Amino acid sequence: MSDGEEYCTCAITGTENPAHQPIYICETCKLYPNNSNSNKEEEAETNDPLPFCICESCATNCHAGHDVYFIGVGPCTCDCPSLPSITVSDASNKERHTCQLIEKSKEEAKRLGFTPGRLLNVPLPMKDQSSIDPSLTVSIDENTEHSSSTLGGYSYASYTLSNLMNNDTTCQTLIRQAEVLADCSRDTFWIPGNNSEDSLDDKAEYCDLELLAKSIYQHHMKSLMEEYSDIATNIQTKGGAEFWVQVKPAGIDRAPVDLHYDKDEVLAETFQLGSFPTISTVTYLTEDRSNAPTVIFPHTYHDEEDKPSESMLLSRAARGKHVVFDGRLLHGAPGHQLLKRQKDSDEKGTEEDSSLRVTFLVNIWSNRPLGVNILPDSIRSRISSSTKTSLQSSIMPLEFQPRSVSKVAVPSKAVEEEDSIILPFVSQGATWIDDNNDQEEDLSEGDDKGLINEQTKDTEDNNNNDNDDEDEESVEEEEELILRLPTFTISESEEDESDTFLLSFDNENAARLIRGEIPINSAAAVADNFITYLHDNVPQFVTSIVTKLQSEHGIDVSNFQADHVCYRTDSIEQYNELVEALQSSEELLIESEIGGRMIATFKLTSPIEITSLDGSLRTIDVLKYHHQKREAFMWLV
Ligand SMILES: [Zn+2]
Ligand SMILES: [Zn+2]
Ligand SMILES: [Zn+2]
Repeated sequence: MSDGEEYCTCAITGTENPAHQPIYICETCKLYPNNSNSNKEEEAETNDPLPFCICESCATNCHAGHDVYFIGVGPCTCDCPSLPSITVSDASNKERHTCQLIEKSKEEAKRLGFTPGRLLNVPLPMKDQSSIDPSLTVSIDENTEHSSSTLGGYSYASYTLSNLMNNDTTCQTLIRQAEVLADCSRDTFWIPGNNSEDSLDDKAEYCDLELLAKSIYQHHMKSLMEEYSDIATNIQTKGGAEFWVQVKPAGIDRAPVDLHYDKDEVLAETFQLGSFPTISTVTYLTEDRSNAPTVIFPHTYHDEEDKPSESMLLSRAARGKHVVFDGRLLHGAPGHQLLKRQKDSDEKGTEEDSSLRVTFLVNIWSNRPLGVNILPDSIRSRISSSTKTSLQSSIMPLEFQPRSVSKVAVPSKAVEEEDSIILPFVSQGATWIDDNNDQEEDLSEGDDKGLINEQTKDTEDNNNNDNDDEDEESVEEEEELILRLPTFTISESEEDESDTFLLSFDNENAARLIRGEIPINSAAAVADNFITYLHDNVPQFVTSIVTKLQSEHGIDVSNFQADHVCYRTDSIEQYNELVEALQSSEELLIESEIGGRMIATFKLTSPIEITSLDGSLRTIDVLKYHHQKREAFMWLV
């Protein structure tokens, strides 16, 4: 998709392993009943062949101009490459059919490291609501009265990792290393399964973050082996663990991670096929409970888009907490005020609060996702050298203690548009089937932010939900997938006792994915997204400049301090909007016109932190903001 090429999904699925995808039928290409090829007839076993199904790419390429119908999304393999070599539109007009995509598709799959015949990832079986399984379903705490349950039939659990909770030094070391990794790369990395061919036997080679991932992997493999030994065996030989870090500025609305499905990103982008981890996990390394919570819904990509979710898991950040859930589920860490811990809403953060929200993510796969590789030596050594000690003995093995999950029934009431919670879905990249025709400019930005382009579309601070009906046709293309759930309150006493909540809604009030507009129009939200964008992108930008100067020109600027960031806008309109918006949260030092262009200088409330090559931390707290009729870009002085 990124290179504009289209590929036939049969290169991945073969003819034996159906995968969820949009299915088309070609009415023009019918099997010729009197096909003289006797072998084909024997294969078909019947003279009344079923209509064949073709994938989306074949529908638009191999069958361009044919009578092609979309019949829905479901499990299927593309028949286009295996159609008999002669198909006809009618008996008098014989045409040789060849799939135009399959050869290059096979080549691309091979190039990406896909082994032919490999299955897509194997999911966990669903839970019977009444069955109780202590290893992967909700943990039972003697202090809470609820009994075991599941998240709409999907497995989940919450644990305390006492190694982390009780040891500040260990956490600080991991946070430090997570920051280094986040500055080095936005990729996710791979820990091969125990019996896998590419397994690194020598544990000494792993850095602490890899050891942490391995430790998490091993714990869950043990539970899986007891319960689903076939899946576990598969993971150990062909799969493993994918890990990455998220380092975000603290605070409920500072750096939202929009709702999304974890998936094999390369497979999704290149072949539009969904492969999801068997198990997803979140480990919190920082404490602040008022940070954006993780929310998880019993909704998978394969569900009907509007299938109601009658429950939701809400997990507040707490140091040393570990949450595990079925890897297919919709989740995120949205920055919505109503998800915030209400008790803290009037209070300033306490001194103990970290200025960062750091999470360590591990997904366990029965097949290695394409494009996820073992941590490169160069990054590993930077991580290792950023802190003095190795944590091996303190995080291997990890101690998992079940952590209580409180059940909260959300009272039923009529859901009014204005008092429901609207959470954005990842604007690009997650709904790959529906987004084929969308602009692709944002794809390179990573999948958890729509950023400026999305925000500046809606400049007016208007509540336009009420006008949806009238405007429906005209705004249809603008509509995004969003999730609406009823407002809820968790009482203070409940919040004091627990930090993980299983909320249940009744059907009428259930959370639903809908098409609509994201009501993020306020100046504060625009400013916030922009500041988040800077925090997310400037450190990597600076690091790459410093590295380049060193490696290509032998100039060592690693001791120099960057003191401000410049950002150019496309237009004076965008400039005005952002300057106005930024004033809601940042201090405007000076605004002036120089040589026909406007320049605004802001002092940033929370400085941008940059890790230097030598491991020291630098900050940038001044933002200069220019307008010029060119593409936006940043530079440093
Ligand atoms: Zn195809
Ligand atoms: Zn056709
Ligand atoms: Zn084809």
